[in-house]
Parts: sequence; structure tokens; C-alpha cells
Amino acid sequence: VKILAIETSCDETAVAVVENGRDVLINEVLSQIDIHKEFGGVVPEVASRYHMEGIIPLIEKALKGASLTLDDIDAVAVTNGPGLIGALLVGVSVAKALAFALGKPLIAVNHLSGHIYANFLENEINFPSVTLIVSGGHTDLIYMENHLEFQVLGQTRDDAAGEAFDKIARSLKLGYPGGPIVDKMANSGEDNLGFPRVYLEKGSLDFSFSGLKSAVINYLHNQKQKGLQVKIEDVCASFQQAVVEVLVDKTIECAKQKNVKHVMMAGGVSANSSLRSLMKERTIKNNLNLYYPPLKYCTDNAAMIGAVAYYQFIAQDFAPLDLNAFSTMTLDNVYKK
Ligand code: ATP
Ligand code: MG
Ligand code: FE
Repeated sequence: VKILAIETSCDETAVAVVENGRDVLINEVLSQIDIHKEFGGVVPEVASRYHMEGIIPLIEKALKGASLTLDDIDAVAVTNGPGLIGALLVGVSVAKALAFALGKPLIAVNHLSGHIYANFLENEINFPSVTLIVSGGHTDLIYMENHLEFQVLGQTRDDAAGEAFDKIARSLKLGYPGGPIVDKMANSGEDNLGFPRVYLEKGSLDFSFSGLKSAVINYLHNQKQKGLQVKIEDVCASFQQAVVEVLVDKTIECAKQKNVKHVMMAGGVSANSSLRSLMKERTIKNNLNLYYPPLKYCTDNAAMIGAVAYYQFIAQDFAPLDLNAFSTMTLDNVYKK
């Protein structure tokens, strides 16, 4: 089964062809980062415009790169939420037109399920499992007993982890997106500023990063008022360590609560070097198997959309041609037991 997958939920125009949920025949990503950099973040209207300009040539490029024609495709999959509505609509419109013209099934994919399924591109993973999704807009703990069955056990009550990285980077004038830069700076800094680790109520699997963000910003402000220097590397290391410890502790706690052996990470922040190393250390200590996608599949891409779409294809979970896009969308499709 060859699926043409389209992803335009944020600032990456992405097209992939994935066979049987595993073999990535082609994975094209046209990033708009250099365009949005100027504004210090993604400008929705600008994103939509570039998706519109980029999507058709990118589909042509992808098919050519995989030595395929549209006739070789068995289904068209597209992200229809969550994300920027105007950006999503570009992908959804193109996917609907293609599916209609080709007479092939249309598959609507939740972007977050895509992030999770990036793990399945290179690994055989068993259930039950727990996934930490840490992206630009989400910080979730997801329990799965089977394919396509998602139960949200925890989520952020304010900022997402990636959002916090981006905001701290902005306060430090490090540029956009902030995650990779903070990660790099933190390597040569020390966790010596005592920023808060926020755990919320005992046993809670929810997250909160706005207090930490304020603590960092207040620190920068106070130092400036006193005319004192800040060591940017230490700010990055202290902030990052405060985020990472909470993410890892709650993921381990979640795996224990659900008695699972398989732990996955997903989303852009799962590229973070210190998150990866602490998560490795702690999963080993707790006898858990850890999986995370290769770097290119951590941030937005269409291969991950093609991966989850394969399981939807098998389940005959097809979308109607009047499919809409949604800026918010929950992954929760399993009733709490
Ligand atoms: P969502 O998937 O929630 O809609 P998104 O698609 O914008 O959001 P991703 O593409 O998964 O998010 O990830 C982008 C985020 O990952 C950005 O916030 C970026 O700063 C962060 N990020 C990328 N690399 C790193 C890193 N090495 N360390 C920390 N954060 C990182
Ligand atoms: Mg992005
Ligand atoms: Fe994403």
C-alpha cells in the first residue's frame, strides 16, 4: 500500500510517499523557517501563502524523486488538524482534489498521531505503550493499548515545552526556533540558577511551564536592573534542566501508573540532547524500552503522516470529500476507564 501524505499544519510544507507504513519512498520538506525568522515566530497568513506556492511543485518533485506517478498511489493522506487553520486548509484542499480526481481514498490524519507514528517508521513497537509528545504546541502523555487507540493521560495547562524553549530563546535574543539554539548553548553552561521544577498535585501527569518561563524572565530582568551580567549558557542550561527533569519524571511516573514497558518520545523537543540522555538513563534504570524517532522525523514532516495513514487504511478509516480542517483537535478517542 503506497500512500501519498501531505502535511501543512504549521510552517513546513511536506510531502511523502510511504509504503506499508514503514518504507519511506520519498520525504520532502520545504521549511519556511528562514521566512518566519524575520518576525521571530510563525506568521499564519504568510505560512498559508507559502504553502499555496509550494505544495503542487513539491508533490511533483516527490513523485519524480520516488520514480512514481499518481497512478501508483493507493490513497491520499492529509493532516486536517490541529494547527494553523489557513495552513491546514491548503493541504486539505489539495488532498481532496487529488483523491477526487484519482478516485482514491482520502485519509484524514491527526497531526499528533503523526508525531507518535514517526516512531513506527524505523521500529517495531509493542503495546501497551506510553508516549511523551513534546512539540511546539503540545506537551502530552498518551497511553495506547492498540494501534489508533489514544488516551490522553496528561497535558500542559499553559505553555507547551517547545513554546517555552522558543520564548526563552526570544528573551535571550537567540533567534527562532529557540529549541535547537538553547540546546546547543546549554551544552557549555551549568544548571546553577535554581529555577523551579513544577510538578503540580501529587501523582498528576499534567504539566505547567509558565511559572518557569516567568522565573527565567524575572531573573534576566533583575540582573539587568542591577547592572549585572548574565551567562547565557547557564540560563539555557538551568532552564533546560528544569524542563527536562519534569518531562522525564512524569513520563516514568506515567509508565509506572499504567504498568507499561514501552516508552516513546515524539515531536520537535524530543530532539533535545539532554532530554534524550536523561530519558535513556531513567528508562534503563526502570527497565523500560525507550524509542524516539530519528531527528528528521521529530519535527514536522509528511512521512509520519503516511505512517499513521497506513493503519487507518487497513482499518478502512476513510474521510469524506467534504473533509474540513480544525485548528484544535484532541487525540483522545478512548474513554477513560
Ligand atoms: P505541534 O506539533 O504541537 O503542532 P510544531 O509542529 O510546531 O507543533 P514540532 O515541529 O514538532 O512542533 O517541533 C517544533 C518545536 O521543537 C519548536 O518549539 C522547537 O524550538 C523545538 N525543538 C526543536 N529542536 C529542539 C531541541 N534540540 N531542543 C529543544 N526544543 C527543540
Ligand atoms: Mg515547525
Ligand atoms: Fe508538529
